[in-house]
Amino acid sequence: MNFCSITSGSSGNCIYVGSEHASLLVDVGLSGKRIEAGLNSIDRKTAEMDGILITHEHSDHIKGLGVLARKYQIPIYATGATIEAMKAYTPLGKVDDSLFCEIYPDEPFCIKDLEVAPFSISHDAADPVAYRINHENKSVGVITDLGHYNDYIVDHLQGLDGVLLEANHDINMLQVGSYPYYLKQRILGNRGHLSNENAGRLLCRILHDGLKTIMLGHLSRENNYEELAYETVCSEVTLGENPYKAKDFPIRVAHRDEPSELFAI
Ligand SMILES: [Zn+2]
Ligand SMILES: [Zn+2]
Repeated sequence: MNFCSITSGSSGNCIYVGSEHASLLVDVGLSGKRIEAGLNSIDRKTAEMDGILITHEHSDHIKGLGVLARKYQIPIYATGATIEAMKAYTPLGKVDDSLFCEIYPDEPFCIKDLEVAPFSISHDAADPVAYRINHENKSVGVITDLGHYNDYIVDHLQGLDGVLLEANHDINMLQVGSYPYYLKQRILGNRGHLSNENAGRLLCRILHDGLKTIMLGHLSRENNYEELAYETVCSEVTLGENPYKAKDFPIRVAHRDEPSELFAI
């Protein structure tokens, strides 16, 4: 199984997950051109994608969807409310209705030899989900755009081999920053985004010896930077109530404008 962040951040998200026989994208929130270039850089072709899994309808997750769907006729998987919200989003343009496949939280489905398990997250969108993707005895999780986590989410992230986890903002940078009050409240709220601290705390609850690939993602351009996200998450892990130290795990930060390495899971 392979896993790669094509880009991740508040300005665009696209994650590749593939097996020998199947290739998926989780979100396509940047231009079709940049997605194609990103996939080419890891030796994958856009035409070979078997599906696009959409987490929710915000533009940083669907910006390239119209172009890719029209050009390659790739099936699009999303919850019913997300599909409706995407259709109402004018910049998407015309997408063939038959490409939309409705999915349901907690109802896993298969795309070739990959099992996809969507589960609900709390975010200010119509019906957002995160995805766990299983192949043989391996699994990866992509979890971004959530205001908080609970036992339900922690349960869905047990036993992962790889994860891309949101570390959106530093609470202090956000609070003293230039965002208007309502936007700060939205980001900090239950349907907003995970702070670096909360990313670290969530990571502590899903750490186990087999979790070998950890990427922090969806960093805010205004209210975070890579070193700060990394250091904050590492100190939560090291100081947290678990047997581990941050240096026991290779924790990486997914970049906003270039692909990560292609991880073999
Ligand atoms: Zn969002
Ligand atoms: Zn987002």
